[in-house]
This record gives sequence, structure tokens and C-alpha cells, in this order.
Amino acid sequence: MMSEMIREDGRKYNELRPIKIEAGVLERADGSAYLEVGGNKILVAVYGPRESYIRRLLEPNTGVIRCRYNMAPFSVDDRKRPGPDRRSSEISKITADALRPALMLENYPRSMVDIYIEVIEAEGGTRCAGITAASVALVDAGIPMKDIVVGCAAGKVNDEIILDLSEVEDKEGQADVPIAMMPRTGEITLLQSDGDLSQEEFEEAINLAMEGCRKVNEIQKEALMKKYSAEMSD
Ligand code: UDP
Repeated sequence: MMSEMIREDGRKYNELRPIKIEAGVLERADGSAYLEVGGNKILVAVYGPRESYIRRLLEPNTGVIRCRYNMAPFSVDDRKRPGPDRRSSEISKITADALRPALMLENYPRSMVDIYIEVIEAEGGTRCAGITAASVALVDAGIPMKDIVVGCAAGKVNDEIILDLSEVEDKEGQADVPIAMMPRTGEITLLQSDGDLSQEEFEEAINLAMEGCRKVNEIQKEALMKKYSAEMSD
């Protein structure tokens, strides 16, 4: 029954929105990436590891990661009031938490990695898209990582578990389960759940989101290959 369902935008239950990623799009940042998925447009800049310029954040035995997720005022239908709010502070925190396990920050005492995620246009799923793009930007910055972290959500709409919710599906749906993972080990670094799901549906959503992550991870790797194979042949 599930595989028969066609969604409002014509996708199958396990289909991602069209996605593209480009690595190394900014001259001045140490690393950067641009990502589009569905109607989302996201730009990420990364700096570091560099000596911590904020004394109170300096850790003598490890590096620290800081993340700022920001939505442009023109990124949503109603003008978004500029500046941080509760939602963006939460997403900044969970993004840093999702990426930290992949970074070997213990090798960089007293230093800091800064990640700036700018949502230029939003259409549902920006936290996962931000994590996916940030991870590519971290690789582009040359920061050693255990794996490329990737984010993707699944959710429940019309009693069906579906992959990669659009804004409409997110708003009208019954549940949203964004996750981030390290594909090599399958380690989950973000797991949130908003809405009503039975245990069985919850497990189904996680499995589907993991399947989505693996697909998005292929696009991340292609973006990095494209950038670095082009550079080597220059
Ligand atoms: N959104 C919006 N205005 C806001 C915040 C969000 O229109 O102030 C939209 C935007 O398209 C976003 C979607 O609602 O992607 C879902 O937001 P949510 O908080 O669930 O986070 P996301 O799915 O983007 O990670």
C-alpha cells in the first residue's frame, strides 16, 4: 500500500527532492559549500581550526566547534525578522552537536572551528540540509574528519511514513523525524522527533531517514570529487 502512494509534488514515499551540492564556492572562507534541495538554498562557510579568539571558549585540551544557523529575512513567505530567535539558536546547537563527533577536535587544543549556515531560501528540512552542506564545507576546509556527516528527515503524512518532507508536508503532516548520521559506521548524531508516531512508525521513519542519508551522502561525495578532481587537473 505504501509504495503505491504518490505525494503532492509527484514523489514516491522514499524519494528525495531534487538535490545538488557544490563544494568550495567562496573565496575568503577556509571551506564552503552551496546546497539546493527542493526549494531550499543554503550557503555554508567554515573557518578553522584557528586559535580561539574568544578566551572564555578556549579549552586547553581540545578544540571547540561553534555553529550559527541563520535564516535570511527573504528566505520565507512572510519576512523573517532578522537576528537570532529560539528556533535558530536550537538549530545552531543541534547542528554543532551533530557535526562534533566527526571532528577530531582533541588534536586541536585551544582552537576553534566556526561554521556559518545561511539559509537563503527555505522550503522545509533546512536543519538537515544545513548539516549536509556544513559537512561538505568542513571537508573543503581540509579539516580531518572521521566521516562526512549527513542529514535527512522522514515523517508521517496521511498516515504514511515518507522521506524528505517538503514545507507543506512538514506543516500539514503528523510527524517529522530529522536525523543526522555518519554513514560509514551508521552512528546517529542527531535524532529529533516532532509529532505523533507509534513505536513501529518511529522505527520505520528512522530506517527510511537513514536510507535517505545514504543517498544524500553519495551526492556529497560527488560534489567533493568534482571539486578536487577538477583542481588536480588544473
Ligand atoms: N519556516 C518559515 N518561517 C520560519 C521558520 C520556518 O516559513 O520562521 C518554514 C521553512 O520553510 C522551514 C519549515 O518552515 O524549512 C520547517 O521548519 P522547521 O522548524 O520544522 O525546521 P526545518 O524543517 O527547516 O529543519
